[in-house]
Amino acid sequence: LNGDNSGFSDSDRDIERALRPLSFDDFTGQDKIVENLKIFVLAAKKRGEPLDHVLLHGPPGLGKTTLSNIIANEMEAEIKITSGPVLEKPSDLAGLLTNLEENDVLFIDEIHRLNPVVEEYLYSAMEDFRIDIMLDSGPSARTIQIDLNPFTLIGATTRSGLLTAPLRARFGINARLQYYDSNLLCKIVKRSSAILTTPINDDAAFEIARRSRGTPRISNNLLRRTRDFAEIKGNGTIDLEISKMALGALNVDQGGLDEMDNRILTTIIEKFKGGPVGINTIATACGDEAETIEEVYEPFLIQEGFIKRTSRGREVTQKAYEHLGIIPPSEGNQ
Ligand code: ADP
Repeated sequence: LNGDNSGFSDSDRDIERALRPLSFDDFTGQDKIVENLKIFVLAAKKRGEPLDHVLLHGPPGLGKTTLSNIIANEMEAEIKITSGPVLEKPSDLAGLLTNLEENDVLFIDEIHRLNPVVEEYLYSAMEDFRIDIMLDSGPSARTIQIDLNPFTLIGATTRSGLLTAPLRARFGINARLQYYDSNLLCKIVKRSSAILTTPINDDAAFEIARRSRGTPRISNNLLRRTRDFAEIKGNGTIDLEISKMALGALNVDQGGLDEMDNRILTTIIEKFKGGPVGINTIATACGDEAETIEEVYEPFLIQEGFIKRTSRGREVTQKAYEHLGIIPPSEGNQ
């Protein structure tokens, strides 16, 4: 599942799987989206039809894959999981589509990275549950039409802006996942520690939640690492002191920003006088890819008011200077 998380060991992956909610009622937060999906799923089941195609967008780790699995569970259907870059040729897609049973879910992660040729094939599959496959090439080339079982496509993307208009138009259900507030993440941390049978104090759970960049995947990661500290440096229980020690050791600062968040802010201030500066320039200076900065870091820094986007590029705010303890250049001094 979602296999490419950097640096994950097998046991981390097993734990990640164990922590994944399996039903709508297990899923914390995103209330509006979940309420709507519940209704759409019930209605589709009542009619005996597949759920309309669903597009989920939002930064990584907010629950797009989790929700897709839940939708399939609630539809009592199977889910096949793939991702945009993996589908190199139309035949890769055809192979998946022709193996779907009625009302199954096909989940395509990073759907904004689909090869345009493959994307073309998806249109008729989504619209008419049919694909045209080219047999042979050259003078003997011919196409045959294959009818598919009615299915639901769930596309996930961190960059909905990069989706083509024709693809976007084919999704009947469109949902943008939001960052989670600390109280919701605290619930998730407590649920996860119960599954891991690790005792945790309320204030420690809140501390981890508050410093998780609004992201359940990060909450769960920090919880796992904090549990290691509790087992080695403490008595197994995660208390506030252990959680602060672990978060400090993991370079998560008091405001919940991680090393890269801080590097981005420091770079814009120290190398580019606070901005405005373009994303590619920031990426080069920080030694990371522009895409990662745009998908993973920037949305949170913008939401928290550390950075703003202007027509001339990214600028840090007063709050960023305060956070880093740097005195901003005086007004009107540019
Ligand atoms: P995405 O597909 O958006 O990158 P995932 O669905 O893979 O995110 O979520 C990452 C992890 O975070 C999952 O393993 C799951 O355990 C946890 N998670 C995500 N959303 C929730 C939620 N609302 N409640 C509980 N756990 C969640």
